[in-house]
Amino acid sequence: MRDNGVVSETPPPALAAAVDLARAAAVETAGDAAVVGEHLAAVSDDTGDPARGEVLTHSFASTLPGYVGWYWAVTIARATGEETVTVDEVVLLPGERALLAPAWVPWHERLRPGDLSVGDVLPSTEDDPRLVPTYTVDDDAADDPEARVVAREIGLGRERVMSHEGRSDALARWNDGDFGPRSPMARQAPGPCGTCGFFLPLAGTLRAALGACGNAYAPADGRVVTVDYGCGAHSQASLVAQDTTEVVNTARYDTADFDLL
Ligand code: SF4
Repeated sequence: MRDNGVVSETPPPALAAAVDLARAAAVETAGDAAVVGEHLAAVSDDTGDPARGEVLTHSFASTLPGYVGWYWAVTIARATGEETVTVDEVVLLPGERALLAPAWVPWHERLRPGDLSVGDVLPSTEDDPRLVPTYTVDDDAADDPEARVVAREIGLGRERVMSHEGRSDALARWNDGDFGPRSPMARQAPGPCGTCGFFLPLAGTLRAALGACGNAYAPADGRVVTVDYGCGAHSQASLVAQDTTEVVNTARYDTADFDLL
């Protein structure tokens, strides 16, 4: 019941008998005698410190609405050589069968894709592993307005960019998603996006693995697709059909080991 002492198997008689004192303290704290129930136990702490004297905790069932399984813990004490028993503290604690709220989780760990609504603001944390600082926030450049202007003009003005981990996560997510090579659409496609005239490759290190679909008739129009995704609106679909009736249903690009650096 207490973690700052050793539970004694032989409670001090004076403290063990002070049930009424402990109950009165619990009632005073609760503000209502009706919510302090039956006496449950008396557990003493052998502090091993003669100067602290004797310490014991009485517990009473809680009948507070909404606190099923909780109990009032009233710790009382008596100094060495003294007759007077005093009340140390009164707390309401959860018992073994208490109904407890789930552990608190920070909001940024609770959020799930799709939770963001119009008008919501979702700031990334300073230690977001998906982002890394660029050179513009180092000690010299961060305070230099001219360096910031120049960096912005040549396209390096962002203070943070996606980290290797962030890009790897995005690639894996999109690879496993509706516009990746294992989707039903891709399995029945006449050809992969990488050979399609409507495929718009991304800039940067993911260029060889990802792009956007620019075909208004394709389900992926305006979406990021992997080079080995594909759909029936492939620009060469009719040409492929003339050459062969074989359905292309295997991945032609291996994005799993793609080097992001
Ligand atoms: S039209 Fe189909 S195959 Fe072509 S880029 Fe778009 S999704 Fe890929």
